[in-house]
Amino acid sequence: MIKVLMVASEATPFAKTGGLADVVGSLPGALRSFDCEVAVLIPRYRAIDLGSARRIYDSLPVWLGGVQHQTSLYQAGETPFYFLDAPALYDRDGLYGDSDGDYPDNAVRFAVLSRAALAVARRVFRPQILHCHDWQSGLVPVYLRTVFACDPTFLGIKTLFSIHNLGYQGLFPPAVLPQVGLDRRVFNIKGLEFFGQVSLIKGGLNYSDALSTVSRKYALEIQTPEYGFGLDGVLRARSADLYAILNGIDYGNWDPQTDPYIAAQYSPGDLSGKRLCKQDLIGEFGLPELAVTRPLLGVISRLTPQKGTELLIEIAPQLVEEDLYLVVLGSGDPVYEEALQTVAAACPDRIGVRFGYDESLAHRIEAGADVFLMPSQYEPSGLNQMYSLRYGTVPVVRATGGLDDTIDEGTGFKFQEYSAEAFLAAVRAAAAAYQDRQGWEALMRRGMLKDYSWRASAAEYAALYQKVLDDDKQAASFSQLQHQTQMRG
Ligand code: ADP
Repeated sequence: MIKVLMVASEATPFAKTGGLADVVGSLPGALRSFDCEVAVLIPRYRAIDLGSARRIYDSLPVWLGGVQHQTSLYQAGETPFYFLDAPALYDRDGLYGDSDGDYPDNAVRFAVLSRAALAVARRVFRPQILHCHDWQSGLVPVYLRTVFACDPTFLGIKTLFSIHNLGYQGLFPPAVLPQVGLDRRVFNIKGLEFFGQVSLIKGGLNYSDALSTVSRKYALEIQTPEYGFGLDGVLRARSADLYAILNGIDYGNWDPQTDPYIAAQYSPGDLSGKRLCKQDLIGEFGLPELAVTRPLLGVISRLTPQKGTELLIEIAPQLVEEDLYLVVLGSGDPVYEEALQTVAAACPDRIGVRFGYDESLAHRIEAGADVFLMPSQYEPSGLNQMYSLRYGTVPVVRATGGLDDTIDEGTGFKFQEYSAEAFLAAVRAAAAAYQDRQGWEALMRRGMLKDYSWRASAAEYAALYQKVLDDDKQAASFSQLQHQTQMRG
């Protein structure tokens, strides 16, 4: 039995802004079948209802830079999930920010989470592995290997840092160092310094025993200047410790045979329900009934440059000329929302848009659309293309990251170059293929029968935990010594 404490900023069903939450919410349960006992620590945001949780620690004070942060700890669920309650830091509507932008105290908010993780490891759930996810938990290995390097409580604990999106790095001015309780000596190129700023993700990358990311292609891409966001050198230096494990899908939530949100359930053996789902979606977006005979394209996305939103906006008018229909559910950059609103207003009987976060509508789009579009600039793993496969909604994707790893010519359509022309050509190829009903249904079924469940990925995480634990003890203590030496300057 391997004991793992995951530290993250979001997890379904409690708090979600993207795919990270799906992973942290589903992976622990899947790991149970592989002899791993997992607990998860996340902040207690305002939206998390403590109704079914119990308070297990009234006071778990966290001292950082001479300031005492009052926190308490709640526990819920089978996994278990621990919620770090610190109202001054987390009792807010957003996870990371509001309409004015990121919260100005994000460095302290997630430093407190990281430091509290070590208090949980000391007093509540003693892990062999601390599994950290993205920049918000990047300071866990830093504290472990610096401030607590000589603390016998933590001897032998290993750290795995998973990169879910290298584009978000947790960059702050050097003035935050004392506030997060770190010595200036970590502020060097082999530590947290990144072009004059403090980078929390770099802490995770430099101080963890092993690194992982969420697809094979992305693991290669992030070691190149094009996709490395300035950290490709750091990742190349650690390439021997960098592993790739594709995200899995929770088919308990995403399966057209059981999905309670959709108008009619269906399966690879009986696709008739999908037509009803399409009619339902057409009705929801006020498109003409006639649309049922033509390819209906769907998008569910954060509206950010990463997701290729500008390519979508650029080709939208041409899609109309091609006699296609489009529905979009998204939230994000107001500039993109406005641009999408404008193209939809010009062709209201062809293009439907909806802004905001809507779980139920996301399921109805997956079920009701014929084709799912993901023209991402980069995509670490991507979940929606895998949901789409299961729903018989044929993906058109840019060949990057997890999209490239999960979609092939037997299940969807790919384009290489990040350009509107290449994207449009792939959509045209899909629309042409749609004309051959038999061929199209065979394409749908091949996708529906793919298995991207958590089972395979959880087995790989379990094997990686074991490997990290087994790794040459001498090597581990050597790296510990190195960090200590660096600290002593
Ligand atoms: P990322 O984490 O980069 O946003 P992923 O494809 O890995 O991308 O995961 C996105 C997740 O968020 C999926 O579960 C998707 O259905 C969901 N999602 C994204 N935008 C919305 C939205 N506006 N409404 C509902 N769900 C959304």
